[in-house]
This record gives sequence, structure tokens and C-alpha cells, in this order.
Amino acid sequence: MGDNKRIALVSVHGDPAVEIGKEEAGGQNVYVRQVGEALGRQGWQVDMFTRKASASDAEIVEHSPNCRTIRLVAGPEEFVPRQEIYGYLPEFVEQLQKFQQQQQYYYPLVHTNYWLSAKVGMELKKHQSIQQIHTYHSLGAVKYNSVKVVPTIATTRLNVEKTCLETAERIVATSPQEREHMRSLVSSKGNIDVIPCGTDIDRFGHVSRRDARRQLDIDPAALVVLYVGRFDERKGIETLVRAVGQSMLRGLANIQLAIAGGSRPGQSDGIERDRIEGIVDELGMRDFTRFPGRLGDDDLHLYYAAANVCVVPSHYEPFGLVAIEAMASGTPVVASDVGGLQYTVVSEKTGLLCPPQDDEAFAKAIDRILSQPHWQLQLGKAARKRVEQKFSWQGVAAQLSELYEELLVEEPAKQLVSVSA
Ligand code: UDP
Repeated sequence: MGDNKRIALVSVHGDPAVEIGKEEAGGQNVYVRQVGEALGRQGWQVDMFTRKASASDAEIVEHSPNCRTIRLVAGPEEFVPRQEIYGYLPEFVEQLQKFQQQQQYYYPLVHTNYWLSAKVGMELKKHQSIQQIHTYHSLGAVKYNSVKVVPTIATTRLNVEKTCLETAERIVATSPQEREHMRSLVSSKGNIDVIPCGTDIDRFGHVSRRDARRQLDIDPAALVVLYVGRFDERKGIETLVRAVGQSMLRGLANIQLAIAGGSRPGQSDGIERDRIEGIVDELGMRDFTRFPGRLGDDDLHLYYAAANVCVVPSHYEPFGLVAIEAMASGTPVVASDVGGLQYTVVSEKTGLLCPPQDDEAFAKAIDRILSQPHWQLQLGKAARKRVEQKFSWQGVAAQLSELYEELLVEEPAKQLVSVSA
């Protein structure tokens, strides 16, 4: 295969080979891994570059014949929170160049993920001829609007995000809402395509609620409300807990709440989990709330199938993979009326949208779905159909593949230029 079917996916802080659901590992890791593997199946030679975050991690992980993760040493070989990684980027760029020199091939296309990797792409461009494609995953301009304390790295991040939007050959927005934010909050310049995130439609939606509950030891008659995701205050888990508390007070019997996601004692996610458990106790909900921890290949699909409703109460969400995973499982979603969730969840058709942080609105929406089993079923069926039509990884990767091919045709000469250190 010639070099022109080679592509590098760069994800400095989101290791695509790591277990999902812990150590800040969430949607970005899933996106890069799934896109990488799907592109591999479609004939691309895919190398995914990430920062080596543990001395015991392998330097190269082969996922399939055409797709591998390559871990570059940049900074300490230990977990570093994303807001502290910037200073290690020059080393990362150097290592990525070195890797190419050793392999004696160069990537004509570099698809970067999150602003830290955007910077890597922009730096690489100074030394070699690449076409950069970028997915933001989260926009500083949106995020800093919703936090109380703006970190010191903010100015740097906002600058990188603006320059990247204006100079990358193509930007991939994962929803029309994200594209609007780029235009209104970042810059009117730059080429943006909308290509959504996806989900594995074979992994979800193939087990019945009854079987899933038997395997998870959940009462077949219970009304199960599910949260899946990281423990982070911005995920709005508190809103969900208070909403379910209200539903109980209003008399909905036999509710069970499952709050799933990994956490590390003493770290930011562990602290948030403790805070949430405190609220659960304060509201007297301990007896019917379970915290199953991080869900993986064995049980994630079972929880989605077992649930009557899945709730995504984020303060903001650029895309929100959990929503489409639940939908692929035939489970209706109650979500915040923000960002990508406005694109994936069709209110009244596949679930309901509520104003973020509004306990009362979430309680009413959850009640409506739980108290109408027939409608619940209809919503779930429509949800599954929507995912099959719009959000399968194969479909998403096919759209990306088309975009890459277009770029290669536009500027084939660029591929011939070699690397200068
Ligand atoms: N996830 C998981 N196990 C867990 C919790 C989360 O596999 O216990 C996965 C979840 O299925 C989804 C991803 O982590 O694929 C979270 O992505 P999302 O876009 O919803 O949120 P992010 O973490 O990017 O903010």
C-alpha cells in the first residue's frame, strides 16, 4: 500500500488503547479508537499517537493488521492531568518526527484530537508537509463560559483553538451545534464539515431487558434509571440524583437508580463520587441506588438494556456518546438541552430534552417516560432506528474516509515533500 493511504491520528492525552471510563478516559478515547479501527477496515494504514502515561504500558499496541496505537515518551511516564500537558508538547512533536524518520515514511494526513493535539499538528506543519484535519471534542470558548474559575492555560488554549480553526485544512464538527459555536465564539474563517461521532450498533441492542436484568440481578419489575459516564461535576449527576429524589416523593414506586463510571479515591473523579454519594445519603436514597463502578465490555451493554431510561444531565456536552449508546440499545434518553445532545436526542421522538441543571424538569421528564410503558417502548425503537441511520462507526468512518480522499486529491504534490527536522 502506498504512503497516500497512511494516516496519523493524534490524541496526546486520550490514549485509544486504554480502558475506557477511568483516568479521564471517555469519549475522545472511544472516538479515536473506533474511528481508527473502522478506517483500518476500510483500507487505511492507521497509526494513533498518544503520550505514554505509564512506564508499564507497551510502546506499541496492535489493534488489527492496519491499526495500532503508538505511545511516545513526552514528559514523565505517569498520568498527567490534561491541563498540565502543554509543556511536554515540544517533546511529543520531536518524538513523532523521530518515529517517522525511523520508519522511513511520513504521514500526508494528520487528524488531531482536542486542542493539545491541534498544537502538535500545527507544530508538525512547520517541519513537514501535512494536511491537518482537526476534531475539537471540547471548545475552550464554550467550556470557560460555564466554569467558575478560568485556569491559567485558558489564553493559550483559546489562541491555539482559533489558529487551528483558521489554518487546518479541515475541521470536523461532530454536530451542527458545535459548528455554530465555532462560528459564533471562535472565528468566521476556516473549513468546517459536520461528521458525527458514532457507536457500535452490533455491540448494543441485542439483549432483552429481561435477560439483561437476570444477568445483573435487577428486579424485573423495577423502574431503572441509568447514568453512565465520568464522575465530573459538569456531567450534572447531582441534577439526576435530585430529580429522582423528587420523582420518589411524587409517589413513583420501585425506582432503582444506577450510577456507573470509574473513579479513583482521592482524585478528582473519586472526590466527585464521594460528593454524589453524600447527596444520595442526604436524600435517603441509598437503598435503591447502586454504584456499579466502571462498566466494560462484559456489562456496559447489559446496563443500557436493563434501563427504562438513561439520563445524560451534562451542563454542556459537545457530542455525548452515552446518549447514542443508550439509543442504540433501544433505551429512551432524557438529556440536557445543550450541544450535541440537541442533535442526537429528538425530543418527544427518541427521548426528552430538559434545561440543564433543572432538577424539576428532569424529574417531570423521567416521570413521563417511566409512567407510560407503551410510549417508552416507542421512544426506544425510534432511538435505535435513528442510531442505525446516522451514527454507526462504519458510516462515520466512511464519511471521514471520503473527506481524507478529497484532501489527498486536492493536494497530491504535498505527499512528496520529505521531513526536515
Ligand atoms: N464509559 C465506559 N464505562 C464506564 C463509563 C463510561 O465505557 O463505566 C464510556 C461510555 O460508554 C462512552 C464514554 O465512556 O463511550 C463517555 O463518552 P461521552 O462522550 O459520553 O463523555 P466524555 O467522557 O467524552 O465526556
